Amino acid sequence: MKLKNLNGKVVLITGAGSGIGRATALLSARRGATLVLCDRDEAGLNETAAAARAVGVDVLVKTADVSDPASMDAFADAVHARFDAVDVLINNAGIGVWCGLLDTLPEDWDRQLAVNVKGVVHGCERFLPRMIERGRGGHVVNVSSAAGYMPSPAMSSYSVTKFAVFGLSQALRMEMRRHKIGVTASCPGPTNTPIVRTGPVRGADAEERADNVVGFFQRTAARPEQVAKTVLRAVARNRAVAPAGLEAHVMYYASRISPPVGRWLSVRWSAMANKG
Ligand code: NAD
Repeated sequence: MKLKNLNGKVVLITGAGSGIGRATALLSARRGATLVLCDRDEAGLNETAAAARAVGVDVLVKTADVSDPASMDAFADAVHARFDAVDVLINNAGIGVWCGLLDTLPEDWDRQLAVNVKGVVHGCERFLPRMIERGRGGHVVNVSSAAGYMPSPAMSSYSVTKFAVFGLSQALRMEMRRHKIGVTASCPGPTNTPIVRTGPVRGADAEERADNVVGFFQRTAARPEQVAKTVLRAVARNRAVAPAGLEAHVMYYASRISPPVGRWLSVRWSAMANKG
């Protein structure tokens, strides 16, 4: 189903308190959507909600942790007390850790799997049944990453979680076809959002590399507003995969046409980011 017009449609976004989630919320608001927003960061969430309300749209906000089933149950109850079902579900909340496998701590694995993978599952489980029951179709966007089809040696564990989201989205797209619900794996390349400052950097010279990576992203990465446009375009065109930004497109075609070239580029890009 192609959702070209968001006017009056209910768009739900997780992780809407910052970065790509906030930009997507504000773009959806400018296109007339009613918003349902959650984040575990209440202050960021309220800032996004205030900016969206200033555009003149209706906004339902709730603090929620996507990794916590009980918290997502409470969120879903609040949403379904107000709406039969959402029209567009955007599972965007995510976290990252900047290091290779050997520097990744057990808690990094647990946290990233819980938020990036189970968070997406929790969103789908709680909102898709009502969309199906209502029978009017809709769309799901799961935010994966360019690292979800071309892994990065600088983010091994993160890449694992984003490959999982990419695979889940492909399977779900086939599963949801008969319900006229489209599913997109959104795959941004490097995007200049707070995630580069909040995600821990581990391994040798971690402090220096953390500064370098932030500087590299500030100079070279896409803006979240650009990614938001690709997300809503993917909804309008019912795209299965939506790379966002030059690096994401290059990596996407390299991963399909010449994976060795993609891996070579990924190693070079990781080294450049580490050096700033
Ligand atoms: P961000 O840090 O600016 O925003 C992420 C938001 O998710 C934050 O507001 C945070 O509070 C929220 N969040 C984190 N854990 C949560 C939880 N357990 N429950 C609810 N909310 C939670 O980062 P961003 O760059 O905007 O990231 C958005 C998505 O885009 C993530 O899935 C990320 O992996 C993905 N992504 C980002 C980039 C990039 O370079 N920035 C590239 C590819 C993919």
